[in-house]
Amino acid sequence: TIIPVSLGDRSYDVRIENGALDRAGDLLAPWLSRGRAVIITDQNVASAQMSRLSAALAGLTIETVILEPGEATKSWAQIEALTDLLLTLEVERGDHVIALGGGVIGDLVGFAAAILKRGCGFVQIPTTLLAQVDSSVGGKTAINSKAGKNLIGAFHQPSFVLIDPTVLDTLPRRQLAAGYAEVVKYGLIADFAFYEWCEANAAALLAGDPEARAYAIEKSVAAKAAIVGEDERETSGRRALLNLGHTFGHALEADKGFSDALLHGEAVAAGMALAFRFSASRGLCPSQDAVRLTHHLQAIGLPHDAASAGVTASGAALVAHMMHDKKMAAGTLAFILARGIGQSYVDKSVALADVAAFLDGERG
Ligand code: NAD
Ligand code: ZN
Repeated sequence: TIIPVSLGDRSYDVRIENGALDRAGDLLAPWLSRGRAVIITDQNVASAQMSRLSAALAGLTIETVILEPGEATKSWAQIEALTDLLLTLEVERGDHVIALGGGVIGDLVGFAAAILKRGCGFVQIPTTLLAQVDSSVGGKTAINSKAGKNLIGAFHQPSFVLIDPTVLDTLPRRQLAAGYAEVVKYGLIADFAFYEWCEANAAALLAGDPEARAYAIEKSVAAKAAIVGEDERETSGRRALLNLGHTFGHALEADKGFSDALLHGEAVAAGMALAFRFSASRGLCPSQDAVRLTHHLQAIGLPHDAASAGVTASGAALVAHMMHDKKMAAGTLAFILARGIGQSYVDKSVALADVAAFLDGERG
């Protein structure tokens, strides 16, 4: 399947195909100028999947940069080291570097490509479910700084995204489930039929069923591509819908110090359930929809509230995390709430005191 992302002269294709990694020699040929591939990856991905890519690119000169796995790699220090190295390798504006990895590698390499010689090309080969359905498409790139996550970055679209669902065979189940939260998100935002498909097929997907995986990725990428095509830089509000569950989720992540104790996708799962129950508590959404979502997340072992995310903080403390995030981001507080499953919308009328009271009420 090929899904186009339509952005004028920055348009590109997302190709989703089981086994595509083994055909990377052919599929990436247009982007590998001068017979050379510069690949940036992390240690886990290198040991799990790099041999497939190396074999597929046999005959080309391959330079591989292997970084430490983990969120700490999205740093200024790594950007400095990586851009220095790419300059030493004489990467030119017309060249493409290859990001092989999860969202950490994709965000770091994308930002390096955005600033190297004022912008060189890059190709995404996402290897986590989260990166395949979310971060590799859309052109947001970023690193972290002392003040917070993803605060330094650029919009820089890839030239091509190559998604091979079979790379998920080596991804730990916990990472797979966290990525699944961003899949079911697309159903919750605007596609009730896809939400029902998710309920029926999540178990197969998590067990590694190839058809279920490929279908979930195709539906997710198509949904993201449509939203990004309408609102590339999150100015009209359409793209903001992708933040469903992320304001509540961010507060939970911040409470945990953005550590491995709570993965981003796990926080988003709990955040989406909170957004639905908050919507229901305000009479905006049928409470059976909130209950239905809560049960679905519970059934697959994802967090569905603050307690199951391991967070015991007060409503006021969590709201303080949200305000910190939002002040940095936009200056106003907009929540993504729901009128039902598949009917999310941006609500700018939410009083923070109500959010804090709701969160305290959840603590019982
Ligand atoms: P990650 O990149 O840290 O990958 C998770 C773990 O899985 C790592 O340990 C990695 O080494 C390992 N791994 C990756 N692929 C593997 C494979 N196929 N087999 C075995 N192990 C594998 O995390 P992630 O969840 O992919 O991405 C999270 C990052 O993405 C965050 O920094 C977040 O800010 C960013 N993000 C960006 C966007 C965007 O639009 N740019 C959107 C969402 C998230
Ligand atoms: Zn997310």
